Amino acid sequence: MRATPAPEARGPAWQAGFATLGEPFFTALAPSPLPEPHWIARNRELAAELGLEPAWLDSDQALQALSGNATLPGSTPLASVYGGHQFGVWAGRLGDGRALLLGETAQGQELQLKGSGRTPYSRGADGRAVLRSSIREYLASCAMHGLAIPSTQALALVGSPLPVQRETLESAAVLTRVAPSFIRFGHFEWFAAQGQEPALRRLADYVIERYYPACRTADAAQGNAYAALLRAVSERTAALIAQWQAVGFMHGVMNTDNMSILGLTLDYGPFQFMDGFDPQHICNHSDQLGRYAFDEQPAVAHWNLACLARALLPLIEELPHAQAAISAYPGAFEAHYMAQMRRKLGLSAPFEGDAESLAQLLRLLAREGVDYSIFWRSYSQACASGTPKAAADLFIDRTAFHDWLLAFSELLAQAGIVQNPDLMLKTNPKFVLRNHLAELCIRAAKLQDFSVIEALQQVLMRPFDDHPDHQAWAGPPPDWAASLTLSCSS
Ligand code: AMP
Ligand code: MG
Repeated sequence: MRATPAPEARGPAWQAGFATLGEPFFTALAPSPLPEPHWIARNRELAAELGLEPAWLDSDQALQALSGNATLPGSTPLASVYGGHQFGVWAGRLGDGRALLLGETAQGQELQLKGSGRTPYSRGADGRAVLRSSIREYLASCAMHGLAIPSTQALALVGSPLPVQRETLESAAVLTRVAPSFIRFGHFEWFAAQGQEPALRRLADYVIERYYPACRTADAAQGNAYAALLRAVSERTAALIAQWQAVGFMHGVMNTDNMSILGLTLDYGPFQFMDGFDPQHICNHSDQLGRYAFDEQPAVAHWNLACLARALLPLIEELPHAQAAISAYPGAFEAHYMAQMRRKLGLSAPFEGDAESLAQLLRLLAREGVDYSIFWRSYSQACASGTPKAAADLFIDRTAFHDWLLAFSELLAQAGIVQNPDLMLKTNPKFVLRNHLAELCIRAAKLQDFSVIEALQQVLMRPFDDHPDHQAWAGPPPDWAASLTLSCSS
């Protein structure tokens, strides 16, 4: 039965945004209808931030609009064009093959449908997203928000009986994503590759004006505003990847078309949060060579920035300025990463020997494959209760951990630094979106039970809280999870 919208329920209020760029940046088109849409999940906190009334999110207008069956007043849906390097190789024209931008809200947030049907950029594919991967993206967006890691957000997820063929026959879903901008490195690469310098400049000017206004007045000795933009994007990317590495997140497909110009986590596919610590872990089954393995991510981001630098070069004009802008990345990454890891250790300031001490600890975790999140949370709790040695229970070689603890506490004493367990408990989450947790939600959803998604969403939005009713979700993966595989196919 369709709910009638309350008379006062208003949908999004729009303001001018990406669409003002005009041709040749996109193709305007309507989404494809989705049969028998039904709600799977909604993010009411995000809706409130977008100024959407709860009654609107419960309305039939919202359901029809966010499944692609109706166009919202004032919205002109469009698919944008971009290119990109996939697995290190120039892939030519890509673009929104299954996504449509609905517009930008008065709060400066773009709303995008994902899985809303074919576009001119679908390259023969069906333009759809399956329920399984849409649930994963929805939950991952909530998890990143809870962890305060920059990411696109998810407003709503709609399901449908529409069959979609992947490795097996699955059903369709449409996700509504939210971000200040969905512009990717690949947008710049596309116009650079086409030799369309005026369009490239228009895009860069738009991004500077809207998102990086300080670049207009940056230090001229380091180059023009476009060099400043590249430097600022390098800085934000460094901060993002440092947070991924610290929390143990693997993106899985760090192609340049999946790199946000705003340094957001974007396009969740075969992503994974680390279980047992394995620095070389590859979460994407399709990534045979391990290009996007966990410990490759920082270097891959640098490589991707080099692609962006090449694309922006016609605007930056001076090669040394472009080189200098991205050569700031490794240092910025290291600084952000160490700051993040020190917080995990409960330390707010650097000290002599901190990097080596951390490296030793990570080697211990890797040697035994100790669960990454459980280690950090247990160690935080052990410190909070004044018994750091209790974390040795996670190791077979308890002596090795005791030795590390002793050496570490001597370093702290020498530096006159005291560990802050509160900081540790606020930095090391109790809950991360492990593959098996997403899988529990997917299995329940296939039986029309969406309550597990709702409950997990609430936990992931506050991953540092205790949530005693959901203790099991803080545990290691069960044996059956070993057979879960994730590929690019979604
Ligand atoms: P992804 O691997 O999801 O980052 O997608 C890479 C490119 O393929 C993007 O241009 C997507 O829009 C497009 N794409 C992926 N899946 C589909 C699909 N089912 N239908 C149309 N385009 C798709
Ligand atoms: Mg993508």
